[in-house]
Amino acid sequence: MKERIVILFLLIFLMGSLANAKDPRANILFIFSDDHAPHAIGAYNGWLKSVNPTPNIDLLAAEGMLFQNSMCSNSICGPSRAVILSGKHSHKNGFMNNGNSFDWSQQTFSKILRKAGYQTALYGKSHLKGRPQGFDDWAVLPGQGLYYNPDMIFPDGRRRINGHCTDIVTDIAVEWLKEKRDTEKPFMLMVQHKAPHRNWMPATRHLHLYDDIKIPEPATLFDKWEDNAPPARFQELEIDRHMDLNYDLFVDLTAEFDQAPSQKRQDRSAWVNMKRMSSEQLKAWRAAYGPKDAAFHAANLKGKDLVRWKFQRYAKNYLRCVKGVDESVGRLRTTLKELGLDENTIVIYSSDQGFYIGDHGWYDKRWMYEESLKMPFIIKWPGVTKAGSRSKRLIQNLDYAETFLDIAGVKIPSDMQGLSLVPLLKGESPKNWRKSLYYHYYVHMVPRHYGIRTQRYKLMHFYQFGNEWEMYDLKTDPDELTNLYGKSEHAKLTKRLKKQLTALQVHYEEDSDLSEKPDSWKAEMRAGK
Ligand code: CA
Repeated sequence: MKERIVILFLLIFLMGSLANAKDPRANILFIFSDDHAPHAIGAYNGWLKSVNPTPNIDLLAAEGMLFQNSMCSNSICGPSRAVILSGKHSHKNGFMNNGNSFDWSQQTFSKILRKAGYQTALYGKSHLKGRPQGFDDWAVLPGQGLYYNPDMIFPDGRRRINGHCTDIVTDIAVEWLKEKRDTEKPFMLMVQHKAPHRNWMPATRHLHLYDDIKIPEPATLFDKWEDNAPPARFQELEIDRHMDLNYDLFVDLTAEFDQAPSQKRQDRSAWVNMKRMSSEQLKAWRAAYGPKDAAFHAANLKGKDLVRWKFQRYAKNYLRCVKGVDESVGRLRTTLKELGLDENTIVIYSSDQGFYIGDHGWYDKRWMYEESLKMPFIIKWPGVTKAGSRSKRLIQNLDYAETFLDIAGVKIPSDMQGLSLVPLLKGESPKNWRKSLYYHYYVHMVPRHYGIRTQRYKLMHFYQFGNEWEMYDLKTDPDELTNLYGKSEHAKLTKRLKKQLTALQVHYEEDSDLSEKPDSWKAEMRAGK
């Protein structure tokens, strides 16, 4: 009898302490930037490594796991975010290009996590239009947002915040971690920076960074795309022909910003933003760019020398913006430590897709070529990921939703199309991991194309531009300079890849209009449109 009473008391005590126990599930801090190419991260060992652009992100990689073959499914801002939230390819989540609006009523991983007891928050660039759903708290930039003194939209309205966008977004996230969240619940916090998106406007404290060094040039800076199919020669991404001295590189923009520069077609956001600067901010900008502009005019550069100069100014501004993001990663991790949360918080660094930093002579994204197809994915899961580990497995932004749900121990909906990365994070070697991945870019500035990427090969179909194909052996030709498509010795491989590509389209239930309209683009190009 006495023993029974003791057991009863013990049971009551145990149940009581369980009811009061904090939810032990791991927190998730997802730090996400815009257009940050893996080769502009030290830990990825790209040609920009010598600049030491990202010490804090490199530290995360040294303590966690880095994915070398992390790729997007549609290389542009809004669509990549839609894929991440929904765990579905663009044709399934309905956000194919930046002109679309995201249907927030659809299933997203954040809604599911919230329902399962997680506290969820989103701060920074959403780029999906509309009021975010599935978050306990949020603050987003309208559209692309501004670098300096941006407006932000909060649940209770829109207001301007003074400062640099990267710092502001970090401040809001830090404040939420320290003062606003429910400490009894695990959290999933998405910190999404605008930087280093065009037009690359660094914080004033970074304006002189890299002044005294020469950024190494990519090997393909003067690529003329001679072996590519015609689409690569018809785009609007060239440093030489398309990057604007005023709007993109700020030449004379700080001195004469009272009148709009003459060219009409360009992205004017830098100029618009400069008009919003405080007198102190503008003073710092004039001090940084005024003397450089004067030296540029005096040099009177032409041809390749001018391209090289444009590359230097562009790459430096891009990397200055990256520096702000890297500092944000450091600050967020310091905050976790201060709050005693670092041992139970998974930290991820990623960006919506890669970018050309002069590679192939370009400065943008969109293509399925390696530099914009790849996206960084670095993760530290304390006690699970092995410090300094690297994976070569093919992973995609399509996999994040399922990974987050799996981490939280929540059932993964059967209509999500990715794979949980959890087995890879645990160091397991699943035999049935994907051998190939699917890509589809829909519209704007480069022709539509879809394709397949395996560990070694890539096959792309430009179906509305001459019905053109390209195929590369990435082992022997990592810069994709030799198009193997149509060469008889590779006929067998081509056939095999085409078959696999069709199988992927069937698997993902691709239902977009894939009909070939071979001559429409060519006719436009011939007409000089
Ligand atoms: Ca982007």
